[in-house]
Amino acid sequence: MVPHDTISQDDVQALADSVTGPVIVPDDADYADEGRAYNLAVQHAPDVILGATDADDVAAGIRWAGRLGCPVSVQATGHGASSAIDGGLLISTSRMQEIVVDPVERTARVGAGVRWRDVLAATVPHGLIGLNGSSTAVGVVGYTVGGGLPILGRAFGFASDRVRSFEVVTPDGEVRHVDPDSEPDLFAALRGGKGSFGIVTSLTFSLLPLSELYGGGIMYPGADAAEVLAAFSRWLPTLPDAAAPSIALLRLPDLEFVPEPLRGQFVVHLRFAYVGGPLDGAELLAPMREVSTPLMEMVGPMSYLDVDQVHMDPVDALPFEDGGLLLHSFDETAQRALLELVGPQADTPLLMVEVRPLGGNLALPPVGVDSVSGRDAAFSFITIGLMVPPVGERVPRAIRDVMRAMEPFSTGGTMVNFHGRPGDEADRARAWSPEAYARLTAAKATYDPTNMLRFGHGVGV
Ligand SMILES: Cc1cc2nc3c(=O)[nH]c(=O)nc-3n(C[C@H](O)[C@H](O)[C@H](O)COP(=O)(O)OP(=O)(O)OC[C@H]3O[C@@H](n4cnc5c(N)ncnc54)[C@H](O)[C@@H]3O)c2cc1C
Repeated sequence: MVPHDTISQDDVQALADSVTGPVIVPDDADYADEGRAYNLAVQHAPDVILGATDADDVAAGIRWAGRLGCPVSVQATGHGASSAIDGGLLISTSRMQEIVVDPVERTARVGAGVRWRDVLAATVPHGLIGLNGSSTAVGVVGYTVGGGLPILGRAFGFASDRVRSFEVVTPDGEVRHVDPDSEPDLFAALRGGKGSFGIVTSLTFSLLPLSELYGGGIMYPGADAAEVLAAFSRWLPTLPDAAAPSIALLRLPDLEFVPEPLRGQFVVHLRFAYVGGPLDGAELLAPMREVSTPLMEMVGPMSYLDVDQVHMDPVDALPFEDGGLLLHSFDETAQRALLELVGPQADTPLLMVEVRPLGGNLALPPVGVDSVSGRDAAFSFITIGLMVPPVGERVPRAIRDVMRAMEPFSTGGTMVNFHGRPGDEADRARAWSPEAYARLTAAKATYDPTNMLRFGHGVGV
């Protein structure tokens, strides 16, 4: 089948002849699987998918698209599918699974399709970790070019702070080694500016010496939400940077991914991850153990390989819509405003609202120039709703209402990884400071003047 009126069967064949990986068009049996995002509410519909196996494949794909004047998008795991890809060439990086760990230099080089869980499986046996976020099913590259807010961010800063170099194919088809000396502007853009400047084919970053932590989660009855949130606020200032807490209000559906005793319940989920010993960890957590009678408690010493137990994010693909904000405060007034919409008495379709304290090393200025936002904020706030009947149709409105209620406590900014569906240019620009946005716009004009990379949450798209 001819996929698009500007792309002929001969064009598709020419691409297939120039690459090692598969070239897939809408009539092929594996088209749906190859293009599927983790967020099932987003249906990508590219004209052609290239299952790239290495940087040469990516470069050949980009040169091919450049000749045809067709747009290019990229997907590793689909965890960041906030808007649909419509037409053009989708470069799927899921086959690019190389992981090279140097335990002496304490670095890892990973291919564009690698997920955090595979990095940790390779590094933790050496007593080393990278700075993953709440779910290790997320792709390392997509997360890191968005800045990467790690579970242990207060202790160690953003994931993009640890990047040593990128290998990137820019829209001119050139494979570039990008580090702070060789390509300073592109290096700054790729550390937090997301995917508008080129397709990263591999990423080299520093590892940290750690293999265990003290952590997990406590589930309280949702009826105690006001008391738990108030106690959380009193407790936060007592914690060192080595302790990373967060709190979520969860209306758990009666679905399989939810642990049996919690299905269908409204709960408050305290997450705790501490870089230190179990005695200190237990002492730090003690005040929160007295707040209410937990429904479930799973906190203790753990191998870093079990770090997903801290947030317990769903692993399987789900249809959802989300939204995020950066907050300067989450005081009593903010908590009251939030509980009015999602507290025990509220009738809300939202699955989750989450508040993650920032600060600590996340507030330090970067080494060199970068494009990360959130260093000046106190909390990351996100909300998620499942787009399933009967609640799905009420979700977008409920997200807007919660965002509006939190606005007085917001810095006005967002993190690109937690922004939700990108809107118009003014809305997308909220993911960066005005200075960073101006630098990103200039980098876009230099590296992608024809706006080849125009999908997702980007600059100048
Ligand atoms: C369950 C869950 C938990 C999460 N937890 C966190 C968290 O704790 N901290 C955090 O910071 N974020 C978190 N995120 C957000 C996540 O980091 C982003 O959605 C990220 O974009 C996912 O990257 P991916 O490659 O897995 O997704 P994909 O959907 O495959 O890619 C998303 C986008 O990343 C960019 N991208 C991907 N690959 C490349 C490439 N090779 N070159 C250039 N750009 C590329 C593109 O813009 C692409 O559109 C979470 C998301 C989910 C769904």
